[in-house]
Amino acid sequence: MSNLVQIAYLISSILFILGIKFLGKTKDARKGNVLSAVGMLLAIVATLVNLNLATFPEMLACVLLGGVIGLYYARKVEMTKIPEMVALFNGFGGLASFAVALSDFFLKSQLIEGLDTVNLISIILSILIGGVTFTGSMVAFLKLDGKVSGQPITFKGQHLINLMLLIVFVVAAVLVFLNPGNPLFIAVLVVIALVLGILTVIPIGGADMPVVISLLNSYSGMAACATGFILNNNVLIVAGSLVGASGIILTQIMCKAMNRSLVNVLLGGFGQTVSGPAADGPQIVIKEVGVEEAAMLFDSASSVIVVPGYGMAVAQAQHVIRELMEQCEKRNIDFRFAIHPVAGRMPGHMNVLLAEANISYDKLIEMEAINDDFSNTDLVFVVGANDVVNPAARTNPASPIFGMPILNADKARTVIVSKRSMGKGYAGIENELFGYPNCLMLFGDAKQTITKVVGEMKEMS
Ligand code: NAP
Repeated sequence: MSNLVQIAYLISSILFILGIKFLGKTKDARKGNVLSAVGMLLAIVATLVNLNLATFPEMLACVLLGGVIGLYYARKVEMTKIPEMVALFNGFGGLASFAVALSDFFLKSQLIEGLDTVNLISIILSILIGGVTFTGSMVAFLKLDGKVSGQPITFKGQHLINLMLLIVFVVAAVLVFLNPGNPLFIAVLVVIALVLGILTVIPIGGADMPVVISLLNSYSGMAACATGFILNNNVLIVAGSLVGASGIILTQIMCKAMNRSLVNVLLGGFGQTVSGPAADGPQIVIKEVGVEEAAMLFDSASSVIVVPGYGMAVAQAQHVIRELMEQCEKRNIDFRFAIHPVAGRMPGHMNVLLAEANISYDKLIEMEAINDDFSNTDLVFVVGANDVVNPAARTNPASPIFGMPILNADKARTVIVSKRSMGKGYAGIENELFGYPNCLMLFGDAKQTITKVVGEMKEMS
């Protein structure tokens, strides 16, 4: 049986690796998801059978129950709420590792042969990473859900307290090694890990939340990996390493896109917004455009780049944007989309929405590939994007987003911005682009206004 289980684990690991590979391309992502899910099912069934933990009818009942709950939430959750859901997933992943580490400690510390060094190191790491992931993710969830202020919560000596807690953790960990039978030191580890999770996430402000989510994702993988060593379970080690490594890679990509260093992220206390006139800049004078005039601008353009942002997701404007694209392509207008890595509220947010509207992947161009083309473009249509086209990232050293790479929408001949009001974006700052001479504001809900623009264009043709 053991050999069969190891073979099942090997197949699961291969499926996970293939799954991750497919997830790298939007068009293969569904396939990647299915492969990984099959891998996970195989690993769970092999484990349950091997340890004689459940009969097949019991397993089927559990799979059905879990499947129904999963399906319900997958269908119910709005696309804009996915980051909250990911935060909860990460948190529960961390909690599971944390709980396994504790139960293993208490079980083995009662046994004659006790705990070996590898066991103890894995348990301590699982408690630290799992505990930090759990409470950190819960704070991230509450912040994203608006139940706790998205503003950074800071106080004097915050980093020093974190450092002191870490030192006490290391001392308590050494004492656990010296007295594995004494539950007091393990209790100290538990409390410090849980408190550290809260303290490292509360000082992080809204604009950097994507980095936190992907970092916590990576932590949950590392915690699972440590748990794999505790349970001597190879597939858990492989799955945990894959999540840990991919999470770190995504974190680095996010850091680059938001101009934050990883050290800065790991220390916490980043993303604090600078307020006041220096960050907000001078009063912005804007020019409005109506739907009819906007339709004429589209009609006379020979190249259009759409910059989608969070507002497109809120308005669910992706389908009507496809209609706009069809109208433009009928007129032989070169029509593309510029995708900023942190546009929206989660990595790949825009790609998923546009794919849902059947817009072909080759129309979606990444920031590095398209940024030089803006200056040769007739018309840039910014749909519900704000921070990702804010030139303050280039020009205003006092701005909290200074240094963040942005899409060069302002360099186009004409820019039309579709949004409801002069409302700010996620970073909570003004956007000087809206006052530029080449920029026109098309106010209203994106779906409604674009529907009217498309209507005008249909009448013109
Ligand atoms: P943004 O800066 O948050 O701006 C979104 C804009 O959409 C708002 O200014 C809002 O203006 C407009 N809007 C809202 N509802 C709308 C509607 N129904 N119709 C038309 N417009 C609407 O968005 P972004 O440019 O996509 O930038 C993303 C921001 O989120 C960045 O700061 C990024 O760091 C952060 N973030 C990203 C992620 C990620 O992983 N992608 C995760 C979390 C946070 P009005 O209110 O005036 O309409």
